[in-house]
Amino acid sequence: MASHSFFLCTLLTFLYLYGITAVDYQVTTDVPNTPGGIRFTNEIGIPYTKQIMGTSNNFIWSVIFQQKNPSDQKPIDSVHAYIEEFKDPIGITWGNNNINFSSLYIAGFNGDVKREFTSVMYHEMTHVLQWDGEGTAPSGLVEGVAEYTKLKANLPQPGFAKPGDGDRWDEGYDVTARFLEYCDGITPGFVAELNNKMRVTYNVKYFEELTGKPVHQLWQECNLDLVGVIRPRSCQSFGFITFKVEQSLRDTIEGMNGQSLDGRIMAQSGGCGDCGVMQEAVDMEEAMNVETVVMMVDRSYYSRGCDWRS
Ligand SMILES: [Zn+2]
Repeated sequence: MASHSFFLCTLLTFLYLYGITAVDYQVTTDVPNTPGGIRFTNEIGIPYTKQIMGTSNNFIWSVIFQQKNPSDQKPIDSVHAYIEEFKDPIGITWGNNNINFSSLYIAGFNGDVKREFTSVMYHEMTHVLQWDGEGTAPSGLVEGVAEYTKLKANLPQPGFAKPGDGDRWDEGYDVTARFLEYCDGITPGFVAELNNKMRVTYNVKYFEELTGKPVHQLWQECNLDLVGVIRPRSCQSFGFITFKVEQSLRDTIEGMNGQSLDGRIMAQSGGCGDCGVMQEAVDMEEAMNVETVVMMVDRSYYSRGCDWRS
């Protein structure tokens, strides 16, 4: 008995010192005989769900939030996932440590449902473990952090926002995840630091404290660096991108040359009528002769028959 207690004590000391907190994972299938419940059992299963709850938990603590010290972590000793029948949303985190996953979504999903389930679980597990300023952080930011986890775990779904997509930094989900990725590029560990700051409350000034720049400036620069300032002209979907550094434009042209965009091959030069995007870009650069070089990017310009010169 004494040796048993000694072993337990040593184990707990080891776990504490190395920041490994034991979390108990529970999974309940409330609708095992429905199409979604049957598909869950056949293609995902309870053992796999428990496994990814554990791996996502460790990934979020170590990589996303970088909380080696358990006292920095949200105190969670168990997480319970339920497969339930409801329509929307796909998954929801409730209470402190419960996740509901839609069996109807599992039943209707077209494709690799195991990967999709994993991706959503990484999102929901982030909600379980993240700080949100005790409810004061903008919901768009909270959802953005959860999607950021998905992005960093290489689990984004098809159609996930590209860098620079979206209209607002706190638009939420994948758009905000891309913005957080940009901020993390400026200040490595940004998302971890921001999360730690949001333990008790939220303040938009956290962005400035961590990067030296206010959030609106970061958003503006994120778009400048990654996509550019779109200045629509006669066609809604048509605009210009102004790069601050000429080399950025050169690199972009180089990178886009020969790539396919909406079925058209982009070419840096040449007379092909169907591959004019890059050609126009170069022509415009010369025509406008501006210091910050201008480039055109338009996904539906040709198909709509718009004329940028009008
Ligand atoms: Zn969410």
